[in-house]
Amino acid sequence: MAERVIDGKDRLILPGLIDIHSHPEHEPLYRGVREEHGLRNMHMTGLYERSQAFSAPDDEARAASAEFAYCELLLSGVTTLVDISPAWDGWIDLFSRSGMRGFLAPGYASARWRLANDFDLQFDWDERRGRDGFATALALVDRVARHPSGRLSGVVSPMQVDTCTADLLRDSRDAARERGLPFTVHIAQSVNEVQEMIRRHGKTPIQWAYEIGILGPDTILGHALFLDAHSWIRWWTKSDLKLIAETGSSVAHCPTPFARYGQVMENFGDYLRAGVNMGLGTDTAPHNLVEEMRKAAVLARIAARDIETVTTSDLLNAATVGGAKALLRDDLGRIAANKKADLVLVDLTLPQMRPARDPLRSFVYHAGDRAVRDVFVDGRQVVAKGLVLTLDQTAAAERLAVAQRRMLEAAPRRDYRGRSAEQIVPLSLPLVD
Ligand SMILES: [Zn+2]
Repeated sequence: MAERVIDGKDRLILPGLIDIHSHPEHEPLYRGVREEHGLRNMHMTGLYERSQAFSAPDDEARAASAEFAYCELLLSGVTTLVDISPAWDGWIDLFSRSGMRGFLAPGYASARWRLANDFDLQFDWDERRGRDGFATALALVDRVARHPSGRLSGVVSPMQVDTCTADLLRDSRDAARERGLPFTVHIAQSVNEVQEMIRRHGKTPIQWAYEIGILGPDTILGHALFLDAHSWIRWWTKSDLKLIAETGSSVAHCPTPFARYGQVMENFGDYLRAGVNMGLGTDTAPHNLVEEMRKAAVLARIAARDIETVTTSDLLNAATVGGAKALLRDDLGRIAANKKADLVLVDLTLPQMRPARDPLRSFVYHAGDRAVRDVFVDGRQVVAKGLVLTLDQTAAAERLAVAQRRMLEAAPRRDYRGRSAEQIVPLSLPLVD
């Protein structure tokens, strides 16, 4: 028996979008910082220099950043989120308050990246730290499973294939399987990482992950963009895509951060046709999954030089049922009996949605997140008339700006050349005295 009747006139109703890869605790802090930041000597990636010079300075910054990101996500119609963050105080409470369905993925690693220059990626190994992080992560994952909201769950998340030992990765996989939870790891996310794994093992990261047994239907590969056949890699093997598909692994595709470095997956359509389960993620800011759908479609066609390589429905599938499958949850991502009431109502009266001959195309290619009007998670309304009901984005934005200043001020003490934030990332237009 329905408790509430909503008039569906002038509305497109979609299943709530599922974002299977994000880092809300720090990415909003990089607004204005990392959009054009990358190193030519590291195949354009800015990941390693940025993570050394800039990161969330404290839990207060993390709280502001996460609250801001959760609002952005809700406003783009995301109802389920994989939140990959270091465990921080207040995380579970804030996430619970957001009203979103959460897969908390506390990250940990055996090694830290380190740069002494702008071309050589180095690793500081400390397996004790990795093991401690793993224990903390499992405790948190077990705690969220008991959360009274019933909306929270966990993902076992060793951070990167190149920063974790084989033992830590295997034990993580086992811990995920014992709990019936997904397992996720960043893999094939930079040319440097692929070269490092070949140097260590004579294998690409995907081939090594296969060899140590961490691929499978419960595994979500973060990015998996630089496969052996990718034009920036051109390794002699051509097996990576097949290994991902044959093991039933899922890929979390996040086009924005790579596109900003000038990098593109080659290509989304080939992954689909190989039989890979594709999901989407936002990874960096903005946390706008509709924009990721649009970018994924356009970039796939550029990479393939083929307009038919993907369709808009392929992208909607990735943002809904693909994500649900990756999370081992067939009760999400669909509007049907016995599925969760996670729903997005899109406003067809918005000028950018009109004419609404094909409302999905109007939404993805024209209006984007602007047209998201109401959002429901588990039958509870969390966005009404384009406003988040559960959190305060304006107040979070104030705290975020202050936290960003703290982060930027710390840069000279962290950067390998002792540079200021202004020197590492100059403003797009110079200030005039
Ligand atoms: Zn990531």
